[in-house]
Amino acid sequence: MPKLRFVLYIIVISTFFGGAPSSPRSADSAFEIVDSQTFLQSNMAPAGPHARTYDPAVEKLLSQMTLKEKIGQMTQLEIGMITDGSDQAIRVNPAKLHKAVGQYGIGSILNVNSEALSPEKWHEILGAIQAEAKKSRSQVPVLYGIDTIHGPNYIVGGTLFPQPLAMAATWNPELMLRGSQIAAAETRKAGIPWTFSPVLDAGRQPLWPRLYETFGEDTHLASVMGVATIRGYEGVDISNPLQVASSLKHYVGYSYPTTGGDRSPALIPEITLREYFLPTFAAAVKAGAHTVMVNSSEVNGIPGHANGYLLTTVLRDELGFQGVVVSDWMDIKKLASVHHIAANEKEATRIGVLAGIDMSMVPSDYSFSDLLLQLVQEGQVPVSRIDEAVRRILILKYQLGLFEEPLRGIDSKTTVGAPESRLANLEAARESITLLKNENHTLPFSKTAHVLVTGPDADSLIPLNNGWSYTWQGDKASAYPEDYMTILKAIQQKIGAEKVTYVPGTAFDKELDIEKAAAAAARADAVVICLGEWAYAETPGNIRDLALPDAQIHLVQKMLDAKKPVVLVLTEGRPRIIRPVVESASAIVMAYNPGNEGGEAIADILFGDVNPSGKLPITYPRWPNRLFTYDHKTFEGEEGQTNPLDAPQFEFGYGLSYTEFVYTDLQATPDSASGNQKVRVAVTIKNTGDRAGKEVVQLFLSDRFASITPPLKRLKRFVKVSLQPGQSRRLTFELGQEDLSFIGVDNRRIAEPGVFDVRVSGLRRSFEWK
Ligand code: BGC
Repeated sequence: MPKLRFVLYIIVISTFFGGAPSSPRSADSAFEIVDSQTFLQSNMAPAGPHARTYDPAVEKLLSQMTLKEKIGQMTQLEIGMITDGSDQAIRVNPAKLHKAVGQYGIGSILNVNSEALSPEKWHEILGAIQAEAKKSRSQVPVLYGIDTIHGPNYIVGGTLFPQPLAMAATWNPELMLRGSQIAAAETRKAGIPWTFSPVLDAGRQPLWPRLYETFGEDTHLASVMGVATIRGYEGVDISNPLQVASSLKHYVGYSYPTTGGDRSPALIPEITLREYFLPTFAAAVKAGAHTVMVNSSEVNGIPGHANGYLLTTVLRDELGFQGVVVSDWMDIKKLASVHHIAANEKEATRIGVLAGIDMSMVPSDYSFSDLLLQLVQEGQVPVSRIDEAVRRILILKYQLGLFEEPLRGIDSKTTVGAPESRLANLEAARESITLLKNENHTLPFSKTAHVLVTGPDADSLIPLNNGWSYTWQGDKASAYPEDYMTILKAIQQKIGAEKVTYVPGTAFDKELDIEKAAAAAARADAVVICLGEWAYAETPGNIRDLALPDAQIHLVQKMLDAKKPVVLVLTEGRPRIIRPVVESASAIVMAYNPGNEGGEAIADILFGDVNPSGKLPITYPRWPNRLFTYDHKTFEGEEGQTNPLDAPQFEFGYGLSYTEFVYTDLQATPDSASGNQKVRVAVTIKNTGDRAGKEVVQLFLSDRFASITPPLKRLKRFVKVSLQPGQSRRLTFELGQEDLSFIGVDNRRIAEPGVFDVRVSGLRRSFEWK
């Protein structure tokens, strides 16, 4: 647990009870409430050990290494380069391993060949790798890196959490912190000290197949969740056997392809890049993240891997990043083969290394090592640039404790998939699920009801997890553990199998037995339709149409004929358009990709054992041609329109509860401020319903006039509070100049005087900034 979290300055204010005067004061009524900004600031201290500690050792080592050995350190290969066989039959090939580590002095190896391996298998492979490194002339340990995206998804038995988009929907950074601590400990238990996570790309393009890997469309929410992740992974000391080094990716602008297709070009003016895409990375660099992975695509015609301005001027000089920059998969080669900014791979290598790449994820040959050696020998790349990169890589290896103990972590007390980790996972899944519609209190269902469960996502763990789950694409059913429940199984367990009828109805995009489902609907008390997507990762997840496939829409329409309450449960990595069936559905539950505990969490919500508290971290679009984020310009969105059908289907930040929350007494004081002064915003929230619940209080700020057309509003603070029936709390938040600032016409952050509106729920107050 990071030390600083104990020295929080806390925003709390008074708590009091409404309702019956005789109500006992609740045990948690005096609890401190940490708002999003406080969480952010108190988790900023970078993890040790300090890089400086290793300067003498690193300089000594560097002076003893040959040029070839140094370049080896900058080379990262995939596991297939040292193994034979696939799946569980994978084994180290000693000759291949010797070539990679013994002869080339490879600095890093990554990922799985085809599917997740057991911790024991990892120990065997990593043991062989580090033993070979120990025999090599320089004896530098190998840095193994892996995609731990939503938990250790390449370790058999690992705790697979909700995907990051769903974690963002919890609006609870403590859950994110806990989840990434578990992911770190389980990853390190396998002997792996480095994860290629978190994805800090702004999720502002709903078509993009990697949306579910992001923390959604808002910079503040994503920065808070990103910093929580860094803290969970890195702790206070990355040499600790429970921690791993993180990698911020994909720096920067990768997530906003014009076509929506993965790895296709983005056009992002610098003013926009700095306002919406850079802040998550800036916050995570401040929090001390040790590595950064580069945008595989291009922004404004310049490939990420060739962009010296972004990789060096902005990342190093401006943001102060001191760690290792690793390329993405094959991306130095692609400067020639895909982006065509280099005539051949040698030229591409020169461009990438000079732009600021320290390590190349080559990953399946020795071309990078061979070509870079030639380039240095020919004087085309200075040795000083090589030393700079290798120095950073060696420091990281020292910081991780690899020189002392190359397999650190394998003997830790961590149990992969421990019961308490599963509980933390279940809690995260429960808090992520977002109730989008609940007409006439359709939900929660009574446990005595007879329910028809139908739809393509009802009886599989695959859509609950999506990509990066045991395999890259996450679609290998046999790789999933048997001890987790699908939505169907969880409903059967909750109310008794005899009360549940199951008819698939459709596959993802194909009708199966819709008529049979319709007949079953006529006999049931209620219908649960599990809709959404199947699994995908990266480019294979590109789509031509954001609409939910016709087969699924048709299934819903047929179910409506029975005139029973129809509940749509959506398991999907991006917001597929559901407009044709929204009006007629009685209730809609957005479950994102809630992970292995998702089935149980969904059943808990459907039958009222858990009160939903998730809120959308994205805008849910109504139309494929009206895609915009909540922080759009006023005349871009629904405000300038007269037709309510132009509004999004569901707004960013939206989500219902089974209880009611009422907001009153919003104040902003003083009503005029300047310089270093703070404006104190206070609001009272009360649970006026009859059951306990959690509510996310969201504070938005709008600038009435500015030199750059201001967005409608921006999220500035949030906090998730838990309230008993009748309980209320008065919350306060502090806003300062930084909160009113924006990127001005010269691409620098500025604050302008003017009138600002604070919005919390439906309330509004204004103050003047002088
Ligand atoms: C992805 C990265 C990932 C890397 C290694 C790339 O294709 O873009 O996010 O970390 O592969 O698996």
